[in-house]
Amino acid sequence: MEVYDLIIVGGGPAGITAGIYAQRARLKVVLLEKLGVGGQIVLSDDVENYPGFRSISGFELMQKFEEQARAFDLTIVDCEVTEIRNEDGYQLVQTHDYDYKTKTVIIASGARSRRLGVTGEEEFIGKGVSFCATCDGFFFRGKDVLVVGGGDSAITEALYLAKIVNKVYIVHRRSELRATKILQERALENPKIEVIWDSVVEEITGSNTVEGVTLRNVVTDELVEIAVSGVFMYVGLLPNTEFTDVEKDDSGFIITDMNLATSVAGVFAAGDCRTTALRQVATAVGDGALAVTSVERYLNS
Ligand code: NAP
Repeated sequence: MEVYDLIIVGGGPAGITAGIYAQRARLKVVLLEKLGVGGQIVLSDDVENYPGFRSISGFELMQKFEEQARAFDLTIVDCEVTEIRNEDGYQLVQTHDYDYKTKTVIIASGARSRRLGVTGEEEFIGKGVSFCATCDGFFFRGKDVLVVGGGDSAITEALYLAKIVNKVYIVHRRSELRATKILQERALENPKIEVIWDSVVEEITGSNTVEGVTLRNVVTDELVEIAVSGVFMYVGLLPNTEFTDVEKDDSGFIITDMNLATSVAGVFAAGDCRTTALRQVATAVGDGALAVTSVERYLNS
């Protein structure tokens, strides 16, 4: 069986950066990606905080990442990793089609949108409930929509939706947003956006498609119904780490040391899938570069 120096799991900003660095380090490497290169950032309409680009769509940014990786002849294989396990001092990376034997692994498998778990959420997915304003915003042209959450994703996507729809309600469970200040300022100044503070979604209602939501004020317990055609969920992230049993935190994010080593020798983690204080393209890129440097040190030791 062929033995690789490095298998990279995931083709988002962290994984692609690791691929570029690994190719330049002349490692025998393959990057495995289950959904197509890019990661979650391809769903962002506008990225303004990745230096070098004043404003660029996440999709276009990741096309540039991929172009650069392919220019260094990085091999990218479309497949889903189902398990990583230690065997005779090597890591065996299992996919549906093939098993890869490797000296090291960088897990850069990212994260996905968390579900709220309220009545109507599952039922109306694709019928008014969405996790991607860039993908689905167009269908709500001229209508009223609700965005759930107060983080960077919720506010960025609310600002995007405000360019298309008639009105955007943001419902947030506290009286202060979590998002970066500049995004907060833009949202609060936008005449098409209204923030409903201290409130949570109790139920999403409708017949064939979403027609409204019931909100509960967490301070007064008062219930209100609002007529909306779309509900966009941005209530945080869940890590894509089910296929590995390296040490994780209570939420499933991978615990690493300062060199991005996990609890298993030869296995490293980079980007949104690991426990970290900040999840941005800029930090994922830094992780990808550092992880390869740590892999090289491990291989040479
Ligand atoms: P996040 O920062 O974890 O924010 C999740 C939001 O949902 C919070 O406001 C949270 O409220 C709320 N929430 C969580 N559970 C809830 C529940 N059960 N009911 C109601 N509300 C709930 O997630 P995110 O906005 O998806 O961002 C994820 C990461 O990506 C962050 O590190 C973020 O900085 C990054 N990101 C960056 C950019 C950018 O820089 N342009 C864009 C998008 C995302 P509380 O505030 O009360 O906890």
